Amino acid sequence: MIHAQSVFRGPAFRGMLAIGAWMALCTVAQAVSPLSTRGNQVLVGGEPGSVAGASLFWSNSGWGQERFYNAQAVAWLKADWKAGLVRAAMGVDAAGGYLADATNRQRVVTVVEAAIANDMYVIIDWHSHHAERHRDQAVAFFQDMARTYGRHDNVIYEIYNEPLEVSWHDTLKPYAEAVIAAIRAIDPDNLIVVGTPHWSQDVDVAAADPITGYANIAYSLHFYAGTHGQPLRDKAQAALDKGLPLFVTEWGAVNADGDGAVAERETAAWIAFLKAHRISAANWSISDKAEGAAALVPGARATGGWSAAELTASGARARAIVRDWSDAHESHGPTRRWRTSAIAAGPAPSIARDGR
Ligand code: MG
Repeated sequence: MIHAQSVFRGPAFRGMLAIGAWMALCTVAQAVSPLSTRGNQVLVGGEPGSVAGASLFWSNSGWGQERFYNAQAVAWLKADWKAGLVRAAMGVDAAGGYLADATNRQRVVTVVEAAIANDMYVIIDWHSHHAERHRDQAVAFFQDMARTYGRHDNVIYEIYNEPLEVSWHDTLKPYAEAVIAAIRAIDPDNLIVVGTPHWSQDVDVAAADPITGYANIAYSLHFYAGTHGQPLRDKAQAALDKGLPLFVTEWGAVNADGDGAVAERETAAWIAFLKAHRISAANWSISDKAEGAAALVPGARATGGWSAAELTASGARARAIVRDWSDAHESHGPTRRWRTSAIAAGPAPSIARDGR
């Protein structure tokens, strides 16, 4: 029998302490706080909070916007937009999508790894309008992602971007349950976001018949401020009132068709709604397509470093919103990274940048 005191005083124990501290620092320094759900809230590090950022455009090969799936663009969103979130919108069944061209998976991997390196959350989005037609492929893809990235708190699985006008109960819920079961068999905890009927607007329908038996499930709400106003906020409120946690994996300041001018007043109303309910949000989209929703002007460089002149009106508005996000997750419960920074390197940078 070893005398406990001798162990705790010995050099081996001191060595273990040092190694342990070093490992804790490494683990913590690269981490974001885990996301979970409680009632109608998505929690950040176990406390109410929200994060904001941007979605990349469809990743499809040959569409021209896949060039933004690179580490430098992600790092720029963190550094300049102060984004806490980026979304990899992996095209699936449309031309040039994942089912025809597995290169799309590598684009997602590039973005996920850049997000992890930059302490951002990252949404792995199965960007389809017909995902129920390819359920087995979705299951296999998310099993792969869960095995590869499920240990990283950064990762959010979005298993169906925007269903069309199909039945929640008969079609979407069974699809979601199959994909969720597959993910949860591998990754017990990372947040999963479920698409809702009618382009991820009918959250009230999902709220009447939610998925049960799994933790950390949130539901997609998509809005385009040029088209959707108070009636859609009323649906969102109804879903919240029934206890449904919402996540805006995609929103636009323009029309629902992706074009048009920034709807200033309605965008402001939406952002106030999101902040009041601590709903996280990703703006659509980081692209230079010639349409209103594109954040970048045609020809903008792929690797970030975008000047004010390279941002569209929508891009400038989205950037300002993301930079000005209330940082609820920081003020109400600093991520482990901030805590570590505060201990290891003095005051954490720019936590109170917006003075709130
Ligand atoms: Mg996990």
